[in-house]
Amino acid sequence: MKIRKLITVIISVFMCILMLAGVISCGGVQDKAPDPTPDPQETPTPTPPPSTPEPTPEPVELVPYDGVVEHLFFHEVIAYPEIAFSGSSRQRYDTEMVTVLEFQRILESLYNNDFILVDLNIVWSEYTNDNGQTRMRSNTLMLPEGKKPIVISFDDLSFYEYMKGDGFMERYIIGSDGNIWAEGIDPSGNAVVSQDLAAITILDKFVRENPGFSHNGAKGCIAFTGYEGILGYRTQKDLDDNSEESRLNRMQEVARVQPVVQRLKDTGWYFATHSYGHIRFPSAGLTAIQNDAVRWMEEVGSLVGETQILIFPFGEPLDGCNWLCQTACGPGFLFYHELGFRLFAAVGREPYTAIKTDIAAVRMDRMASIGTTLRQGRERFLRFYDAKDVFDPMRPEEYGTDW
Ligand SMILES: [Zn+2]
Repeated sequence: MKIRKLITVIISVFMCILMLAGVISCGGVQDKAPDPTPDPQETPTPTPPPSTPEPTPEPVELVPYDGVVEHLFFHEVIAYPEIAFSGSSRQRYDTEMVTVLEFQRILESLYNNDFILVDLNIVWSEYTNDNGQTRMRSNTLMLPEGKKPIVISFDDLSFYEYMKGDGFMERYIIGSDGNIWAEGIDPSGNAVVSQDLAAITILDKFVRENPGFSHNGAKGCIAFTGYEGILGYRTQKDLDDNSEESRLNRMQEVARVQPVVQRLKDTGWYFATHSYGHIRFPSAGLTAIQNDAVRWMEEVGSLVGETQILIFPFGEPLDGCNWLCQTACGPGFLFYHELGFRLFAAVGREPYTAIKTDIAAVRMDRMASIGTTLRQGRERFLRFYDAKDVFDPMRPEEYGTDW
């Protein structure tokens, strides 16, 4: 009896090992590229564990850094310039965006100029002063010797409706390798899944190939609106449509974007609000600003989690708090502060920062890495890249440059 029992146990253990081996070999197929012709309506596959973890840089000696933290911002990149620059919105795209070629050249130049990506959230921290008030203060960063910290933020990564068919990808997805990919339609009308045609995946790939470009795995800050969802998923509520169908559609979009958001968080990306409706703070009025913020928290904050970063839509500061603003904060600022926001970013000619003295908040400017500044203002960006070297020859000729 005992021997039969022992044999049974041995067989059971052996079977378990075989099953486990089966599971492992299933996981081992993750290197395969994503299905090249995915059904756009298909529910994304749940995030499998990554088969190839992002390489971590060799340990290097870290030294204290208290200097300027640079900050550039981009919009989504143009995947197919031949389409974007031939339609009715060509001037808008030429002004606001860079192309995939330009973005890749910019990343290479930043890396070659010894910049290293840092997470905006580590640059300052909140503390309580001797009077019991909470305020912000700069942190001393510990960086590899010779490296200069830079934050990159990306505004409006929603693949808005107006961009459809204009030479952009359409959404970010999880590939069968567990990583982020972008999917869309190529100029011939074929479905395409790629890591070379959209901002997030290009940066991910660049850091994978050049781990020394990222401090502790930091990637970029993504500033979301909410009125047309996020990342290509229409997760917004339609307040005029109470139908069950509308509710189910939204729930499906929410379920599809969640693994993408999770993967972004797991790979060094972090999030900011850019207001729900891309509203104009100077003219909106306090009630509209408050309602907009609450709606963002409900529809976008519920998907991406807490954030302390507000990126002003149109670069227009709250309460008229421009770069000289050292006065007491107005009601809009105080409302956002109450919601937990501490870092407030506009757009400026230099990466200006000021720690507010009346509340725990930092007001900063970001430099715009967009088409306009490739055409004009080359000098200001020379420490990052030379517009002459970066400029995509596919850009329309008629808008000119100042170099
Ligand atoms: Zn924007």
